[in-house]
Amino acid sequence: MARSLLKAGKAAVFRQYPFTIILKKKVADTPENCKLKIDPGSKVTGLALLLNDSVIWAAELTHRGQQIKDANWRRRQLRRGRRNRKTRYRQARFFNRKRRDSWLAPSLNHRVQTTMTWVNRLTRFCPINSIYQELIRFDTQKVQNPEVSSIEYQQGELHGYEIREYLLEKWGRKCAYCGAENTPLEVEHIQAKSKGGSNRISNLTLSCHSCNQAKSNLDIKDFLSGKPDLIKRIISQAKAPLKDAAAVNSTRWKLYNDLKTTGLEVCTSSGGMTKYNRCRLGLPKAHWIDAACVGKTESLKLETNQPLLIKSTGHGNRQMCGTNKYGFPTRHRSRQQVHQGFKTGDIVKAVVTKGKKIGTYKGRVLVRASGSFDISTAKVRVSGISHKYCVPIYKKDGYQYEFNSQFNGN
Ligand SMILES: [Zn+2]
Repeated sequence: MARSLLKAGKAAVFRQYPFTIILKKKVADTPENCKLKIDPGSKVTGLALLLNDSVIWAAELTHRGQQIKDANWRRRQLRRGRRNRKTRYRQARFFNRKRRDSWLAPSLNHRVQTTMTWVNRLTRFCPINSIYQELIRFDTQKVQNPEVSSIEYQQGELHGYEIREYLLEKWGRKCAYCGAENTPLEVEHIQAKSKGGSNRISNLTLSCHSCNQAKSNLDIKDFLSGKPDLIKRIISQAKAPLKDAAAVNSTRWKLYNDLKTTGLEVCTSSGGMTKYNRCRLGLPKAHWIDAACVGKTESLKLETNQPLLIKSTGHGNRQMCGTNKYGFPTRHRSRQQVHQGFKTGDIVKAVVTKGKKIGTYKGRVLVRASGSFDISTAKVRVSGISHKYCVPIYKKDGYQYEFNSQFNGN
């Protein structure tokens, strides 16, 4: 649609990254209110904008929690090493430190903050009147007295989905017998149904397909003979109900509280509900589709099949003194980030007309105080390009944008 509007001259490019167009005609009628739905994940957060029941825009926001954790760890190691070298021994003191009650680790806080950035951006561009967020994995209200409830196998039974999510949380999302992770898990009866085992949750666990097949209707003591510790652990874990605290995700609650500060109506939902909606509507698994399925959903129409892929890249670092791998200072940097109007990480286009490097280059720039920049294009990295040749296309905002053209619904 964007392409045809641009070709017909009805719209113009407003921004390159993320690719945005603007209509040339003034639109008089007020747009209808939209819903924003959010599925917060540990690595990727799904975002979807809905007009009535149709998804009109979607995005997948990739977080950089691990990178932040690694960077903090490296800094700590360097400082520790230096302190040990340069000062007398001092005992570690950590009991005289205090943290706010709402404190979150930097890697987790970043997840909340980047999501809020996008919520704020979207509310600026689009008339959003309500936000739907997946707050909890399973709804304890729907799983009343979970340890006594039994699982329903019929597809489309919301109750069964909530219980499955409950089991996933309880068994740590891995096979109880072999510990396999990131594999499809099946609901497994510890005492086989054919041997009189019940459907109660205290008789259920999760196992990978091969373990489920191998166990068949064997008794757990025969199946895991030679591993008495494992048998004991599985039986005791099956009997113990999941603690409420285990299911409370502090990051999601922080996000929920932050979302409420926008003044919009915030509705919450459970992961069981999301999965139930997605399976009932026969939609493929993707973060943005999960986001669209958050909350009570009767039907869903996908007006788009290309989510905007947003990747958090951060804003560089504040390190003034770079070190080599032994922690010795090797390079220094000025406090200034902007040189000749450019920042490292901006995307520029340079048309070089003189010298050895004649040509056109487009890519991310690395700036130097001297005004001699490096440009990383898709293929090569060219150095020594004068700032005079550079024209900015995109000013770094801490994100990288992409459209996945390969998406075909799988
Ligand atoms: Zn297994």
